Amino acid sequence: MGAQVALLSIGNSRVRNRVGSSPPMLELQGIAVSPGVAIGKVLILDQEGYRITRSQIDSSDRNNEAQRLRQAIDEASSRLDEHRQRSAEKLGKKIGAIFSAHQQMLLDPSLHAEWLRLIEDECYSAEYAISSVLNRYAQAFRNMGSGMMSERAADIRDVERTLLESLGGHPTQASGGDGQSVLASHDLTPSETAKLDREKILGFCTEVGGPAGHTAIVARGLEIPAVVGLGTFLHRIANAADVIVDGYRGRVILQPTEEVLARYRERMEVRATRTTKLSELRDLPAQTLDGTHVSLMANIEFPYEVEACLARGAEGVGLYRTEFLYLGSVKEPTEEQHFEAYHQVVSAMGGKPVVMRTLDLGADKMGQSPQSDRENNPFLGLRSIRLSLRNPQMFRTQLRAMLRAASAGDLRIMFPMITTLHELRTARMVLRQVIDDLQEDNIPVPAKVSVGMMVEVPAAVLMLDHLLLEVDFISIGTNDLIQYTLAVDRTNEYVADLYTGLDPSVLRLIKQSVDQAAKYGVDVSVCGEMSSTPLCALLLVGFGVRTLSAPPSALPHVKQALRNVTLADCEAMANRSLEFGTAREVDAYLQGRFAQLLPEMAIGA
Ligand code: PEP
Ligand code: MG
Repeated sequence: MGAQVALLSIGNSRVRNRVGSSPPMLELQGIAVSPGVAIGKVLILDQEGYRITRSQIDSSDRNNEAQRLRQAIDEASSRLDEHRQRSAEKLGKKIGAIFSAHQQMLLDPSLHAEWLRLIEDECYSAEYAISSVLNRYAQAFRNMGSGMMSERAADIRDVERTLLESLGGHPTQASGGDGQSVLASHDLTPSETAKLDREKILGFCTEVGGPAGHTAIVARGLEIPAVVGLGTFLHRIANAADVIVDGYRGRVILQPTEEVLARYRERMEVRATRTTKLSELRDLPAQTLDGTHVSLMANIEFPYEVEACLARGAEGVGLYRTEFLYLGSVKEPTEEQHFEAYHQVVSAMGGKPVVMRTLDLGADKMGQSPQSDRENNPFLGLRSIRLSLRNPQMFRTQLRAMLRAASAGDLRIMFPMITTLHELRTARMVLRQVIDDLQEDNIPVPAKVSVGMMVEVPAAVLMLDHLLLEVDFISIGTNDLIQYTLAVDRTNEYVADLYTGLDPSVLRLIKQSVDQAAKYGVDVSVCGEMSSTPLCALLLVGFGVRTLSAPPSALPHVKQALRNVTLADCEAMANRSLEFGTAREVDAYLQGRFAQLLPEMAIGA
């Protein structure tokens, strides 16, 4: 007690340094992207782009070095086998298959020959031989220019890491070390995040990343506390230091004092009690005090998340981000692989609606792909429906699988990022052709499959009077709508403070879309992350939205808020919000109103 506290400013992080006590506590401020608190030992993941320096061995050591390499290959192979089994059990065969492919690569005799040649003929260390050969292949994949191929560069990087670890503790696997840890890294791609071993990685924090990137979305799906966009900090910490990741407040505390640890542990207990209480809401209706029902649906990225949807009482899947099947597989998925995943989700949901969005690859989801390397502005580039329409064969394969799975339940098809009427018509035309082909092959397709589009570009909002005539439903993707309306990259930490759904321009676009949909009698939902915070959910209901889709973990919180307010409360909030001129005013007003209406939810979030 009583230690002096100094506040310093480092990058975009505030650092609180306890003077006079050792070790010092450092408090970093970043962006909260996945709620929860993780307390553990830090595990630092090397930055991308690390290189093994060119090191040579004595010529008399060549045989020993070759032997070291062989042992490392054997060890890495067994490790990959373990990862494969564990991932297959926990996350399904598709994810397990990633490690089988890594293993195949590792056991490729031509690679072994190249490594051995560098050791035996040129006296390079095993580390350098591995790194230089694999880097060359990774670069070749990056240069190939196809999105699918580029993902292989990331796989090669994973194999390299595994092998280097087997040679004596080089870069640590993102999936975790021996004990339970909190991962700290420069960045994590969405697929790296998806591979995190939830039993070993309690939470993570990264130097870069923005509030609504797909890494954040996957973290929420996995229910793993996360803070991103902390700025440069990895050089300030050592492996195994104590750390707290506060995914509610966007704070990371390194070497916390006993007092701080105790305070966090106490809060965690309070929250655990609240979560248990919330689980009691599962089978209660999602309705306001005066009986207005709101359908609460779930957003998923992987079929295994269906379990969480049902456990949280979701009325259906409002957004299935199917692109994660592409990100998790080594080759472009086959029709059968698509079908298996879709069929699993639709049948597990037992007749409840499942909105399947067609491929929405591009931009941040591509990680280190050549495509995003070549595009200066990937979010304005060849992503989403644009990518599907440029690759009709890939698009048709996915649509065939969806249509085949449609007979198993209530499957609805949704096109992402529709910007023009022409795009919508072209996508629908491809769909029509695929239906005709299936019927010609006597493959059953339901007489009517609902087809909708996402509204996530301001151009689509402006053209809704035309677009609504050609769809069965729309879903507002606020994550992208915010980004494209405010011209703020959703993954960029430097402009994270400008990224807000409460900006009056965004609110007006949402309201306009909901009103237009009502006028044309078309169902409207919101599946962007705005649906997941109780405060924004009430606002959306006030705008007239009656279907919200959010990560499964958010549903009980949204339901609790809804059940404690009236529709008139929501409408009054919505109407008043539309009168302000700045996001800050909207925010202050809504926070105040929320605290009056739901004091117990507003405290200690
Ligand atoms: C959105 O943009 O709001 C959305 C739901 O899609 P994604 O986050 O996958 O881009
Ligand atoms: Mg989107």
